[in-house]
Amino acid sequence: MIPLADRYGRRFPYLRLSITPACNFRCTYCLPHGYHAEPGKAGPLSLDEIARLLRGFAELGMQKLRITGGEPSVRRDLTDVLRTAAAAPGVTRLAMTTNGTLLSRRLGDWMDAGLNAINVSVDSLDRATFARVTGHDRLDDILHGVDMALAAGLPTKLNAVLLRGVNDRELPRWLDYLREHAVGLRFIELMQTGDNAAFFRDHHVRAGLLETGLQEAGWQPLPRAADAGPAREYRHPDYAGRIGIIAPYSKDFCAGCNRLRVTATGDLRLCLFGEFGIPLRSWLQRDDQLDELVRAIGGQIGRKEQGHFLHEGRTGITPHLASTGG
Ligand code: SAM
Repeated sequence: MIPLADRYGRRFPYLRLSITPACNFRCTYCLPHGYHAEPGKAGPLSLDEIARLLRGFAELGMQKLRITGGEPSVRRDLTDVLRTAAAAPGVTRLAMTTNGTLLSRRLGDWMDAGLNAINVSVDSLDRATFARVTGHDRLDDILHGVDMALAAGLPTKLNAVLLRGVNDRELPRWLDYLREHAVGLRFIELMQTGDNAAFFRDHHVRAGLLETGLQEAGWQPLPRAADAGPAREYRHPDYAGRIGIIAPYSKDFCAGCNRLRVTATGDLRLCLFGEFGIPLRSWLQRDDQLDELVRAIGGQIGRKEQGHFLHEGRTGITPHLASTGG
C-alpha cells in the first residue's frame, strides 16, 4: 500500500463517492427545479465497477468512505452498494450523506449492510422553512429517522446550509435540540456553484460569524482528528450534541484537505471546485486492471491545486453539488 500524498504534503485517506446524480428534493440552493436526467449521459457505476474502484483506492490508503449523491437512497440497490463498500479492504469508516427520506424505513438494512456513520441534511427545524428550502414537507419523518439512528447507536451528524434571511436565525432552536440529541450538527456555509450565482448573492452568510457567539456562550473548540471532515468542531458540557462549522471561504480551509471525490460516472475530482475530472471508468471494467487504475489515480494527484478559487467566484465545472457529490 502506497498512501496518496500531493505536492503540498497532504494525504488522502478519505474518499467521497457519489453513486447517483439524481435527487428527489428540490433544494433552493442546489436543484431548485429538481433533477432532470441528461439524455445520452452514461449511467452511474455498477456494483462491480464500484468494487474495483474501491479496491484501487484501498491500495492508495483509503480508510474512510462516504457514499453521497445526488441522493444515494434513490438508487434501488443502495443496500448492495453499502455491502460492497463495507467489504472494501481498509475501509474502517463507512458513512453516507442523505436527505433522510428513507431513513426511518431503511436504517436497519443500511446498518446490517455495514453503514457505521450517517449525515442527514436538515436545513431547518421549522417545518414550513424546511418545506420551503427542500420542496418537501418531510421534516417530522426525517427527524424520526434521526431519533431511530441515535437509538441504534449510529454516529449521526446533521447538515444545515446557512441561508441569509431563510434559516440564519435558528441558533436558539438548534441549541434546544442539541441539549438532548447527541448529534454533530454542521452549519455549512453556502458555496457558490455554476448554477446558483444569483441565489448565492442573496443568501450567502459567513458561517464563521457564528463561532464568536458560540465561544462566548462557553462552547469549546475540539482538536481535529486526522481523518476528520472539513468542520471546526465545538462542544459544551451542558449539551449532548456538538456543533461543527464548515467555512469553505475561511483562510486555510484547503490546507486541511484530506479527501478526494469520484462522481457517479467514475470521474475523479481532485477538488469539489476543480476545472477538470479524470475519467477512471475505463479502468474499472476488469479485475485485472487494478494496477493500471492505481497508477492512473496516483499519477494525477500532483495536479491537485493548493486551494480552490471560490473567493474569485471560480466554481470550476460544478453546476451544483448534486452533479459532483456533495
Ligand atoms: N442528497 C444528499 C443530502 O441531501 O444530504 C447528499 C448530497 S447533497 C449535495 C450533500 C450536502 O451538500 C447536503 O448537506 C447539502 O445541503 C449540501 N449542499 C448542496 N449544495 C450546497 C451549496 N451550494 N453550498 C453548501 N452546501 C451545499
